[in-house]
Amino acid sequence: FPSPKQSSPINAVPLSRLRWRLGIGGMSRDIAAGSHVWVGDSELAWIDGIVINVYGAEAVIQTSDGRMVTTNLSKIYPKDVEAPAGGVDDMTKLSYLHEPAVLYNLATRYEINEIYTYCGNILIAINPFQALSHLYDVYLMERYKGAQLGELSPHVYAIADVAYRAMIKEGKSNSILVSGESGAGKTETTKMLMRYLAFLGGHAAAEGRTVEQQVLESNPVLEAFGNAKTVKNNNSSRFGKFVEIQFDKHGQISGAAIRTYLLEKSRVCQISDPERNYHCFYLLCAAPLEEIERYKLGDPKSFHYLNQSNCYELVGISDAHDYLATRKAMDIVGISEKEQEAIFRVVAAILHLGNIAFAKGEEDSSILQDDESKFHLQMTAELLMCNPQALEVALCKRVMITPEEIIERSLDPLGAAVSRDGLAKTIYSRLLVNKINVSIGQDPHSECLIGVLDIYGFESFKISSFEQFCINFTNEKLQQHFNQHVFKMEQAEYQNEEIDWSYVEFVDNQDVLDLIEKFRTLMKRLLYLQNQWQKKDSQEGGDGGDPSYMFPKSTHETFAQKLYQTFKDHKRFVKPKLARTEFTIAHYAGEVQYQSDQFLDKNKDYVVPEHQDLLSASKCSFVAGLFPPLSEETAKSGKFSSIGSRFKLQLQQLMDILNSTEPHYIRCIKPNNELKPALFENVNVLQQLRSGGVLEAIRVKCEGYPTHRTFTEFLNRFAILAPEILEGNYEEKVACKWILEKVGLTRFQMAELDARKGKVLGESAMVVQKQ
Ligand code: ADP
Ligand code: MG
Repeated sequence: FPSPKQSSPINAVPLSRLRWRLGIGGMSRDIAAGSHVWVGDSELAWIDGIVINVYGAEAVIQTSDGRMVTTNLSKIYPKDVEAPAGGVDDMTKLSYLHEPAVLYNLATRYEINEIYTYCGNILIAINPFQALSHLYDVYLMERYKGAQLGELSPHVYAIADVAYRAMIKEGKSNSILVSGESGAGKTETTKMLMRYLAFLGGHAAAEGRTVEQQVLESNPVLEAFGNAKTVKNNNSSRFGKFVEIQFDKHGQISGAAIRTYLLEKSRVCQISDPERNYHCFYLLCAAPLEEIERYKLGDPKSFHYLNQSNCYELVGISDAHDYLATRKAMDIVGISEKEQEAIFRVVAAILHLGNIAFAKGEEDSSILQDDESKFHLQMTAELLMCNPQALEVALCKRVMITPEEIIERSLDPLGAAVSRDGLAKTIYSRLLVNKINVSIGQDPHSECLIGVLDIYGFESFKISSFEQFCINFTNEKLQQHFNQHVFKMEQAEYQNEEIDWSYVEFVDNQDVLDLIEKFRTLMKRLLYLQNQWQKKDSQEGGDGGDPSYMFPKSTHETFAQKLYQTFKDHKRFVKPKLARTEFTIAHYAGEVQYQSDQFLDKNKDYVVPEHQDLLSASKCSFVAGLFPPLSEETAKSGKFSSIGSRFKLQLQQLMDILNSTEPHYIRCIKPNNELKPALFENVNVLQQLRSGGVLEAIRVKCEGYPTHRTFTEFLNRFAILAPEILEGNYEEKVACKWILEKVGLTRFQMAELDARKGKVLGESAMVVQKQ
């Protein structure tokens, strides 16, 4: 077996040490002809070179690719020529803690398949895009068990281990927050964390199905129904999830709960090439013949919800195999045979539903397009166990209730198709909700939990819409949580070393959060107004009264105008020059331009009463169970409930849980957009380090005294600056001070840590801060 590299403990024994600070942009003072430096580069972000000459504030540098570059001294950074060849496993060990050094360190490590690196307590994980099976051996799990963070090479296991130990020791819940952009490796990382926690808290040689097996097998089930191939990731999770693993007082897993957030519903009925719909549809089309015949399925190419894209198969994946694997996983999770049958029957029903096409009927009504549509309608009704006539009416007609009378109104073919897709989305999104949770079961007596969060990172597209708005709101919230935590940890470290550290200030993104909050209120008010307007309209017999239809165009512009008026002075809000409905928000990770056109429509969380009634009357108890009858009260108020409000509530609950736990962070990085191994794109990686808050965390560190060495380490490296002190007897601390004063470094502090008291005394470390 390969042995994990031994490295010096980062948080182990609190040794006394010296800390110092090299001013961030102000390092220029040390730069002279012959200095090795980093200089900005449009392609590589940073390139190394040697200073040839310095004229005033300008330096001429010969870059390693042979060019001459002239640049301002404030824009170049010193390069540590003595940095270890394979990089350092913790960024805080870098002699210079700045952007180019961080980037170069990660790139160097990635080249030798060292995909994990710490930045203090944060783990940075770079997707290898190749199986590195030696990294995840059971043997390694044994090694990491109980090891101090930093004792072994950086690893997800180490983070899970720290969380578990902290939970046992302090009796407090912990959480591990995994973030990163699509395809960065969040879900894979989450699975490894869960596997390791199951290893630690598992029941030895238990008979039958164990809770930890249920927890682990929930992953393939969730992935079958919630993951799809996208351009960014062949197995992209289209929902966020928070897995709570509960433990008893012996530290054994006793239950679990899985919460999911914001499933991308639109994918069920709308996909674009070369993406795919949710895996489960293809799996079912590759099921054993008996099932195919029972559900009257066939080639995926024959279904409208699948054939909008030309991608049906995934390289290296067998849908037939995965179908059986999913069924097996469902068995283990505890979903009964009968429920499994019902779940896949509903999946088949959605495929048939999508093939129902409409043609123009009399006046503005619509009829089923042809015999094929009639067949699919029949099949859908059969599979959902509801009345086919009722299904047709629910798709093609709307009932309007006014104080005077009940009017039945027909939908035109376009309206009927919208209605059909709405029904498909509603059914699908309710399919798995709570199914898994009920099966695994929560432990009401659990002592503590470890929560693992796998949630989409910050998103910015050419056209960003309501979904990105919600996702970025989540990320702003998590970023605030992260900042506060990093700041707190940093402060605790200085306190422990008894070092004076008056931190200037840390960037708080509360202003963006306030802005988004006001936004939501505005949208809610407009939703309410629309409600009023529709009531009035339907009473007057107008045709704008169908809430399953879109808002009229004028509303979008009114919405945009309202936004411009309300937020024109907010410094995080920008109205692009020629915009009619676009607006820009300056998020912590960068500016995002949103298109407000569909905000109001997408914010509506509305099940048409006709659909609700149809399905709650299903003869299949599983289907009817997905649509419990609404109480009079909820029917009224729920009618215009919004996705935004519900999401906000969910997010607040998540933040409440997170705030009651000790957090740990893993930042996943996608090294390239080609999903290829051994390709490390600097500019791309830097952008992710920025949006994941890693650069901000480094900035916070740099505000203090980022560099630290034990007195011995310091002398080993720098005694050369004052060799005279090594003659005769010397005290390490005094010698260090001598060197620092000799070179004119004034911003340093010395911390003497006593391993026994956990505070500074005796053996040695020092901290230096320098302009
Ligand atoms: P995300 O959840 O962040 O969108 P995933 O976790 O689904 O990303 O990872 C995308 C793909 O990258 C995976 O399907 C897998 O092929 C690869 N991958 C991610 N992490 C690892 C890893 N640690 N080792 C090997 N391959 C990985
Ligand atoms: Mg994922």
